[in-house]
Amino acid sequence: MKPSLYGMTRDQLKDWIIEQGEKAFRADQIWDWLYTKRVQSFEEMTNLSKPLLAMLSEQFVLNPLSQRIVQESADGTVKYLFELPDGMLIETVLMRQHYGLSVCVTTQVGCNIGCTFCASGLIKKQRDLNAGEIVSQIMLVQKYFDERGQGERVSHVVVMGIGEPFDNYSNVLNFLRTINDDKGLAIGARHITVSTSGLAHKIREFANEGIQVNLAVSLHAPNNDLRSSIMKINRAFPLEKLFAAIDYYIKTTNRRVTFEYIMLNEVNDGVEQAKELANLLKDIKKLSYVNLIPYNPVTEHDQYSRSPRERVMAFYDTLKKQGVNCVIRQEHGTDIDAACGQLRSNTMKKDATKVAAVNL
Ligand code: SAH
Ligand code: SF4
Repeated sequence: MKPSLYGMTRDQLKDWIIEQGEKAFRADQIWDWLYTKRVQSFEEMTNLSKPLLAMLSEQFVLNPLSQRIVQESADGTVKYLFELPDGMLIETVLMRQHYGLSVCVTTQVGCNIGCTFCASGLIKKQRDLNAGEIVSQIMLVQKYFDERGQGERVSHVVVMGIGEPFDNYSNVLNFLRTINDDKGLAIGARHITVSTSGLAHKIREFANEGIQVNLAVSLHAPNNDLRSSIMKINRAFPLEKLFAAIDYYIKTTNRRVTFEYIMLNEVNDGVEQAKELANLLKDIKKLSYVNLIPYNPVTEHDQYSRSPRERVMAFYDTLKKQGVNCVIRQEHGTDIDAACGQLRSNTMKKDATKVAAVNL
């Protein structure tokens, strides 16, 4: 199977071009066709020589994904079902925010972390996506808007779809460098957020990359006992290790960290737990935010339910009183199951025909 041209960063493309005996500036021309003009075929790259075009199409494909289903929700959220070259299916979500168009990308087919509240973790990882397959998700969403002709641009990206991005580190890094490249899509690093379940050693590595992308950590519990019972990754990376890595990240990058906290009724949403959380964050209060996330019910995880509003407010007020920066996250696309954590790679294949029949 040929790799996608979207899978190379600009530096890698330059190296490839030079290896072919071409001048380095050809890489910039190709980059411009790919990400500024956003052509859909090699033939449209009209300033390249015939032999170079032949070499490109011999060795690469452009977009390796095919679009199977697009569902648009009442609030403007769009969910895309894409097929990978080996027939596996993934989902990508576009959310309309007041600040622009934000895309949630998938990084793996399935997820090995297996958090007890998550639909994506219900199926073991089938494979990592390569960088080209992750970049292509953005390119296809951008194409959808290019075709509408209103000049709308994907301005924000969250790496919060199916998969654990730090379990597919180098592909995710190449993806980030490509979409952030100022000669291409130029999606600002501060407009990109990577969410991890807490692979501490990778948080340290990420701190050293010199990339100004936002980091979000899925915390979901204020102590080891509770966190280990809902996220088994906490047994490998308990809070002491996790917070040592987060401190390192903050010191190295001078950037704030976001903590995601799903509100699970009567599990992690009590006032005592809010106090415990504030205590856990006491040394980094000014350097962190807490995002309180409404739980999206997952049929297979019926031990959990959504916290009622009063409990969410009491939790929020307690954090605020303790000086913790905190917001309650708004939901998007719940009518089409498009919320993060609601994406599921396993059932998509059998569901695809059903969904298509209902929605198209
Ligand atoms: N694997 C990474 C990123 C993908 S999950 C991570 O875990 O951080 C993105 C976010 O969705 C995480 O914060 C995750 O905890 C959350 N999530 C998972 N299942 C959810 C559910 N059922 N309801 C709400 N959020 C959920
Ligand atoms: Fe994987 Fe994240 Fe879901 Fe946990 S919450 S199973 S890490 S996708």
